[in-house]
Parts: sequence; C-alpha cells; structure tokens
Amino acid sequence: MGHSIRTFRLIAAPVAILSFGASWAFQEKPQITGVGPSPNATASSAPLTSVPPSPIAASRMGLNVVVLDPSHGGVDLGARGTEGIHESEVVLQFSDQLKRALEGQGFQVLTTREGNDNPSFDDRSARANAQRGAVFVTLHIGSTGLPGTVRTYVMPDFPPSDDVSGLIPWDRAQATFTELSRKLGSLVQAELAKRFKGSPPSAQTAPVRQLRTTAAPAIAVEIASVSVENRAELDRMIPGVAEAIAHGVAAFRPSYILPAKPGTTSGPGNPP
Ligand SMILES: [Zn+2]
Repeated sequence: MGHSIRTFRLIAAPVAILSFGASWAFQEKPQITGVGPSPNATASSAPLTSVPPSPIAASRMGLNVVVLDPSHGGVDLGARGTEGIHESEVVLQFSDQLKRALEGQGFQVLTTREGNDNPSFDDRSARANAQRGAVFVTLHIGSTGLPGTVRTYVMPDFPPSDDVSGLIPWDRAQATFTELSRKLGSLVQAELAKRFKGSPPSAQTAPVRQLRTTAAPAIAVEIASVSVENRAELDRMIPGVAEAIAHGVAAFRPSYILPAKPGTTSGPGNPP
C-alpha cells in the first residue's frame, strides 16, 4: 500500500464521539485540534464533511451506498514503481471503473476524491460514516506481491473497550463492524481469486489505518503491483477487479441488515 508507517500512526484527535444507542450515525465529524493545517488541506476536502445522508438511502433498510476511496493523492503519490507508475493515479482510474460496475449492480456510489487531492483519513471515513447503509472500499496498488494478483484486507478484531458510556470513540468506529467486514471481504476475495490466479483464497487481516475510523463494513483491496514493467498490465486487470468487487458487494447485500432506528417497530424488511 506504500504507506506502512501511516498505517500504524495514531491520529491525534479521537474527539468526536458517536452513539450507536440513541443515534446510529455519527453525530459530527471529528475536528482535528492541536495540529496545523495539513499540507493537503485544500478547499476541495471541505465539501466531504457536510454531505447529509441521502433521505432515500436512509429510508431503506439495507445496503444501498458504496463509498469508494481512491487512496493517497495530492503530494502523497502512494507506492511508486520503477516505470513511473504512481499508485495515487492508478487508483483514480480503478475507482472510476469500479463505480460504473457497482452502479450496474444498482448501488449508489460516492467517492472520497475525484481528482488529485488528498483528503485526510478522517475526512475519507467521514464520507462513509455520514451514510446509513453504506459499505466502504479503499483502493490500493501495492508495491509488493505477485504481479497479477489481488488481495483484500480487513481490520482485525479490536481489544475490548473498558468504556461503559455506550459511546464509541471515533478511533474505534470499526470495532462493531469487524465481523461484517470479514464477511464482505471474504465474498469479494472469493470473486477476485476466481479471476486472478495466485491470489489468496480469502481476505487477510491487517491494521489498515483507513479502515479503523470507518463505521461501516469496510475493506481494502490491493492490486499487485506498481512494480509491473508496463502500466498497461495494471490497466488490463482493472475491469476484472472492478467486476469481482461489484459481484462480491452484491453478494454481501442480503447479509447487511441495519439495526432498526430507535422507536421503530420491526416489520417486513426490518427484523428485530
Ligand atoms: Zn496504498
């Protein structure tokens, strides 16, 4: 993924709190305090934080929205190959094709960036956390791995929390989703393994920074690798990877039943 150091870096601002009891969704996005503006803090990242959940999506009970995260961007080029291949560029093309494949499966698709900017990890998570009934897929081109293979990563389980308030800190947003994320990851990886020989048969766990703050079933998909001799080798893989992910997410759809909103009664499509 080209950013192993950042993957393990703790963020400085676990100040936003969300409650899964009174309100399922995040109450606010995290405000980063005590640090200067990020080198990539441009106006382009601001609109990501103020997108309200779609009323249509919120009124339905299941998975409707897929948030795609083309990783890196801006001054962060991600993994770099000897042939001038930059992860941050390839994942944008990857995201465009995956968006179309998912729309073909009937999903609404949002992206964390459209151009060469670099929203913060928290801004990217906030994009998913503002949605009800979303899954999150962060896209990477690795610097390691057998070229021509694809791997899916999910977060390992979190250590138990001693917090009795019922509030979930931003930094543990993924904690209650790890089982669903594993389910999503295994469905996606099974599709990838069918199409890309040599890929692992199942999803792997890794403490991927971007997944940790995401309050939704969330996976990282990494194509190997930037070390191919010609970028065309990656370009040729992308349609098949997109199709595999779209099929995997569609297969996951029946597994994702959202908790009922407080005050609602169970009924068809809204089991207790
Ligand atoms: Zn990466």
